Amino acid sequence: MIIKNSKIALPDRNEFVSLDIEIDQGKIVSIGENLQGSEILDASGMQIFPGAIDPHVHFNEPGFTDKEDFYHGTCAAASGGVTTIIDMPCTSVPPVTNLENFRTKLDTVKNKAVVDFGFFGGVSGQVMGADYQKNMAELAAYIMGFKTYFISGMDSFRSLSPDQLMKVLSEARKLQRPVLLHAEDPGIVNGLTKTQKALGKDWLNFFRSRPEEAEVFAVIKAIAAVRATGAQLHIVHVGSGEAAKLLANESNISGETAPHYLAFNNKDLERLGGALKTTPVVKSEGNSEILWECLTKGVLDFAASDHASAGADQKNTGSAWDDYSGIPGTGTLFPYLYSEGLRKRQFPLSRFLKITSENAAQKYGFFDRKGSIEINKDADFIFVNPNEEWQVKGKTFLSKGKITPFENMIFQGKIEKTILRGEIVFDSNSGIHVKPGYGQFIKPHFDISAR
Ligand SMILES: [Zn+2]
Repeated sequence: MIIKNSKIALPDRNEFVSLDIEIDQGKIVSIGENLQGSEILDASGMQIFPGAIDPHVHFNEPGFTDKEDFYHGTCAAASGGVTTIIDMPCTSVPPVTNLENFRTKLDTVKNKAVVDFGFFGGVSGQVMGADYQKNMAELAAYIMGFKTYFISGMDSFRSLSPDQLMKVLSEARKLQRPVLLHAEDPGIVNGLTKTQKALGKDWLNFFRSRPEEAEVFAVIKAIAAVRATGAQLHIVHVGSGEAAKLLANESNISGETAPHYLAFNNKDLERLGGALKTTPVVKSEGNSEILWECLTKGVLDFAASDHASAGADQKNTGSAWDDYSGIPGTGTLFPYLYSEGLRKRQFPLSRFLKITSENAAQKYGFFDRKGSIEINKDADFIFVNPNEEWQVKGKTFLSKGKITPFENMIFQGKIEKTILRGEIVFDSNSGIHVKPGYGQFIKPHFDISAR
């Protein structure tokens, strides 16, 4: 198949280029002028991007599929231009903390995905007994990193103390895998949660229980642990500008943020309530600007959705403490960054490609297959009509979750098609085009030095 008449976003270029793309057996085999072939896909008027990567989702299968499952989650991803997701180990039962649990999860989800997927393994407080080294070593070949928590809301996946994190970092360094950390200080959050719960159940109470200092404290501790061990650490969902800035001079620590931290602050939380409840919570005014700046300068490496959906009843309980924490974000990740970053803020195109695709593929060991439009890579693309605007409506989401803080926002640029390994998986007129199971499991091929 030949894609014709498009404008392509090639790596390290700040302008689109007008070239054809030839696809054979799911791979890009040539990029050039006037390519000839029997099957033509006309992309007149479209901008073509590499398939987006969402390297932080909770699709909950097996275990919590009342909230989300692999089929609905990956359909939502495809509708938002995401062709590869990486699923977290903590929100499935059993959690992916050993090889047997990994196999259970892969067997359960492998015939359900419509986009490609990888897994993170995890190290919880529960598995820090005698076997954690063996478990980590056995998992390493199949997973893209090890997720850990300084504070966890899940009894099935408990947090690590700083000394336990040091042990995990030492082991991960030997295995050449990054460690991912939910960085909020438990001393601060647990203390303030008790105080604020006694004061009320409003959004201001919840907001005050997880202050910016909790992230700053945790990141400082994490920096000390990384300096002591020399391991690679990645801080997930950074919301505090001050915490993000701490990463600027740390060559072994990377960070990600999420659209909700770029778009919203505590005033929005009071207005939107449960629709915007996440942990970490959105921060005060001013933080978003610093996060945008950190994304521009490369202090933060990419954005991820932290997709974690739940039904309307669980998002509107009447108590800020009881509402489910998490939003269905994988379908709005790329559209938000395209509209607000590339278009409104005139983000350099080359940097936009890094934060939506390249950097995650490099960090997690599959840049040989994905992450850019280059010969020999998977033919994963997003066709964007740059001249169309559209309004976000949660009820149209393909996720099981329909409650979104982006409700009614107008985005520039409409995704017309999402293509994975040469097949149309999503079309804006006709929806999902492939059967569950088209999505493949991706194993990492690590060269951790190429961060
Ligand atoms: Zn998460």
